[in-house]
Amino acid sequence: MKLQFLGGAREVGRSAILVDDTLLLDFGIKTADPPQYPVGRPSPDAVVATHGHLDHVGNVPSLLSGSNRPPIHWTPPTYELALTLARDTLKLHGGSFRCPFTENDLKRVTEVSRTHGYREPFEAAGYEVTFFDAGHIPGSAHVLVDDGDTRLLYTGDFHTTHQRLVSGTTARPDADVVVSESTYSDVEHEDRSVVEKRFVESVETTLWEGGTVVVPAFAIGRTQELMLVCEAHDVPCYVDGMGQQVTEMFRQYPEFLRDAEAFRRAKSHARFVTGRDGQRKRITEQKAAIITTSGMLSGGPAMTYIPEIRSNPTNKIAMTGYQVEGTPGRELLETGRAEIDGRVMPVSASVEQYDFSAHADRDGLFGFLESYEDVPMLVNHGDRCAAFADELRSKGFEANAPEHGSVYTVR
Ligand SMILES: [Zn+2]
Repeated sequence: MKLQFLGGAREVGRSAILVDDTLLLDFGIKTADPPQYPVGRPSPDAVVATHGHLDHVGNVPSLLSGSNRPPIHWTPPTYELALTLARDTLKLHGGSFRCPFTENDLKRVTEVSRTHGYREPFEAAGYEVTFFDAGHIPGSAHVLVDDGDTRLLYTGDFHTTHQRLVSGTTARPDADVVVSESTYSDVEHEDRSVVEKRFVESVETTLWEGGTVVVPAFAIGRTQELMLVCEAHDVPCYVDGMGQQVTEMFRQYPEFLRDAEAFRRAKSHARFVTGRDGQRKRITEQKAAIITTSGMLSGGPAMTYIPEIRSNPTNKIAMTGYQVEGTPGRELLETGRAEIDGRVMPVSASVEQYDFSAHADRDGLFGFLESYEDVPMLVNHGDRCAAFADELRSKGFEANAPEHGSVYTVR
């Protein structure tokens, strides 16, 4: 089995791995300025996608330009999320180099889509492929690819401990080679219950003092996790941005949620914002949490809320995810200022950050990989893949960190 790394090698973003030139695993976009796409122009016989985040499925529709119509295999939520993301990319950037596909390419996605549940083997490009629950977001999968001789396990993004939205992964299928993500290979997450408690206490304090809390959050996964947190602690909350649509969609797939009943309660506890008739401005005068995109303050309704609440020190901005270098969210954390719509604004409201990560941390990665002690390991999807591969080797693993375009043959 020959593996070629077209993206996501020694970086986070644009994940893409080509197996024997015929089977493509993930095809993502790296959000950057300008955005980056996988290297080469693969023309696979079939595509398999691990989960519905932009850096794993964002570029999938472009595989359907021209006459090629490879079937695309994924779980039902991943299919829906890929469509949602593609429509969003098209709406924001259609017709420019920031959108690598056309409306026609996008329409074809539905024609070639093949959905599968967990642990239901299917055939793709002559391989037997099986999805296992990866515990990252609803529908996220580890992918096992079997050519009859060699079994490749591609982890996709995964988490080993429970979130409110999804349970941690417990699947450890037998494999002869593992490609593993390594996003948080040098981070130890604080216990989730501790993070949650601190977050809730901080939000409640602000509300008691008469303030408003803006909670920037990614639309897929994080928004719903925070809705569940707010419901569990009876924190009044509004939800704005693409996370609303994603929430409605997840409701259709209860089997991919950890607790469908809790999810239903969280949905009815939250108030969805339409944005009509100056609703957003009115909401900023309420004592409530506002969960809104974008997670890194690079667009979305958060851009309306922040200018409204920024000058009152009673208010708060609670960041809930990793802030990539160069984003307004990162700038706000580091300097207390944020550039909103081209204007640099000082922020008097307090700014905090909480680690609600949906990825395994260092202990989680080692715990997972220990099940594969005797098999070669290729580390991708991280900012320090090479260093992590070194660490794995020093512990007796056979590990490497591929670079873009590099080819590995596994027997
Ligand atoms: Zn992801």
